[in-house]
Amino acid sequence: MKHRIVVIPGDGIGPEVVASTMQVLEASGAEIEWVEEQAGKATMERYGNPLPQHVLDRINEVGVALKGPVTTPVGKGFSSVNVAMRKQLNLYANVRPINSRFGNSDKFSDVDMVIFRENTEDVYAGLEQDIAPGVAQCLKIITKEASDRIAIFAFDYAVKNGRKKVQAVHKANIMKKSDGLFLKSCREVASQYPEIEYGEIIVDNCAMQMVIRPQQFDVLVLTNLYGDILSDLGAGLVGGLGLVPGANIGDGLAVFEAAHGSAPDIAGKGVADPLALILSAANMMKYLDEPAIAGRIERAVISILGQKDKLTMDLGGRSGTKEFTRHLIDIISSTG
Ligand code: NAD
Repeated sequence: MKHRIVVIPGDGIGPEVVASTMQVLEASGAEIEWVEEQAGKATMERYGNPLPQHVLDRINEVGVALKGPVTTPVGKGFSSVNVAMRKQLNLYANVRPINSRFGNSDKFSDVDMVIFRENTEDVYAGLEQDIAPGVAQCLKIITKEASDRIAIFAFDYAVKNGRKKVQAVHKANIMKKSDGLFLKSCREVASQYPEIEYGEIIVDNCAMQMVIRPQQFDVLVLTNLYGDILSDLGAGLVGGLGLVPGANIGDGLAVFEAAHGSAPDIAGKGVADPLALILSAANMMKYLDEPAIAGRIERAVISILGQKDKLTMDLGGRSGTKEFTRHLIDIISSTG
């Protein structure tokens, strides 16, 4: 079946990893009509807006997008395109699987957890102000509505995917009202899923436990900031940011993107690892009910991860992005 998908190349290494991913999808037999849109720095220069309304309208119309990372200026300039897109399209669930099967770590070979990060509120609401000289304030917004729906999403996923345990990650010992409200939602939702074990863990302890014994975790559900930080920590457990896929999902809409950013330190050098976006694209094919194509890509990824010299430099290999892509496509073509 032919699918219509919006593609946003993004900034930094975005265009490099997006080009690689589109080639891999084509080689794996995916039939796609790409609808290209731009967002980020170049769009800001052209339209005075890094995320113009017509791009949001296009994603709304098409329903699925593959997105490269977009740079956000630090401490000044325009606010995050990524955060704005998630909020304006109501892509409330950020899904990041951390799985050693698609990893390359000497330390752990049996990590298999999925992180569900609430995507629309918390300190990402953009409510910040200077309230006096030398004093700045940032508001953390937590609502029952958003907490309920991310918890339901995580529990539904656990049921559909044969997962055993969901843990809510929080700091309700300190933020009794906001994180307390999040926990209350998680508890209420958990009571509707008696077949899934439910647990709670304080975020600082969770970070320490993830480093020491990550195998103990199954499904984690978190508010936005904790999810952002712990999913990068999780990426480190399986070999780094070049490997961890992601998806932003709402009701009837999904934007697939890697967990990593635009990596300005390596942009344009031809060395970026496209695997995280390629694995995101495999998940996109599952979302589009194309499990055979997703499986073909995933098997090829597992195969190439066992051939160190063919990998990109972040994973200890010698290939640049284009060479790596050719190796992966050769595997897909030879194994079918
Ligand atoms: P980053 O993820 O871009 O990079 C962190 C480190 O990981 C860098 O050393 C980088 O070289 C390396 N890295 C990341 N992806 C890689 C890949 N595919 N292959 C090889 N190495 C890779 O994080 P950062 O430096 O904190 O952020 C850079 C910019 O990206 C910022 O403007 C930030 O706001 C933005 N960002 C965007 C998204 C998104 O678009 N969803 C997500 C995170 C950060």
